[in-house]
Amino acid sequence: MTDKTVFGDVEVNRVDEWRDRLFTRPELLPDSDRLEWEAQKDWLEPVFWSAESEDAWLCAQSFLVRSGGRTILVDTGIGNGKPRPGVPPFADLDTGYLGNLAALGVRPEDVDLVVCTHLHPDHIGWNTTLENGEWRPTFPNATHLLPKPDFELLSEMAKSGDAPDPLGFVSAFLDSVAPVAEHAKTQLWEGEEQVIDDAVRLVAAPGHSPGAAAVTISSGGEHALLAGDLVHHPMQILDPGQRNVLDADPAAAAESRIRLLGWAAEHSAPVFGGHFPGGRGARISAAGSGFRIDSWTNV
Ligand SMILES: [Zn+2]
Repeated sequence: MTDKTVFGDVEVNRVDEWRDRLFTRPELLPDSDRLEWEAQKDWLEPVFWSAESEDAWLCAQSFLVRSGGRTILVDTGIGNGKPRPGVPPFADLDTGYLGNLAALGVRPEDVDLVVCTHLHPDHIGWNTTLENGEWRPTFPNATHLLPKPDFELLSEMAKSGDAPDPLGFVSAFLDSVAPVAEHAKTQLWEGEEQVIDDAVRLVAAPGHSPGAAAVTISSGGEHALLAGDLVHHPMQILDPGQRNVLDADPAAAAESRIRLLGWAAEHSAPVFGGHFPGGRGARISAAGSGFRIDSWTNV
């Protein structure tokens, strides 16, 4: 594995947050076949899977993107001190995330743009921190670019108050999105894509959530895909039809995966899964009805 942090004029670094047990293979990808994983065991273990326990290892992280003089944070992880009774591994964390960001030379006030690929609790957490008992924007000078379909869905669920919400999506919205909408700059976007600058754009990838998106980077003939939750696990690159247990619309999610992984294969763009441990990116090419992984890079 080689480290590659610059794509043309765009620099990408990972901001580490969290890694722990969350899902086993059949919990994460309910239609997956253990035999197919065993066939890939030599590279899946120990980073992506433990065959014995069946843990499918994930992490939470952000990607720091420096482009055109701006400091951009893609996804903001789980956050510290968040009450998450429906997902105990995410509850009341006390991680060194802001220190990890500082180690990359970035103070919270330096962040110009926060991009949330979607509004699930593990992608919005550091939008806010607790200040005198209230959740306040962590990145006070940033514009928060948020998907309108997710924002509207969760706003409606919060208003009606009676929709089933076992994983606490609504309470996460209320402590990690509503405060930035109230106290910081926010921009809701919808449609096929949102141009961030000449090199960076958000591309709609609906399915995991209605407003889910991925970030493409194209600069100086080099490319990268910050995939968010388009793929939770690299086995979904081999078989993009594999649904994640939390995909709201599995058919749409599969269509989005095939389309954007196709772009990555065509452009030799490493695919950085939002939850791939250690900021790993897969360089892929088309193979049969899916893709094969040719090599790994990390940021
Ligand atoms: Zn996620």
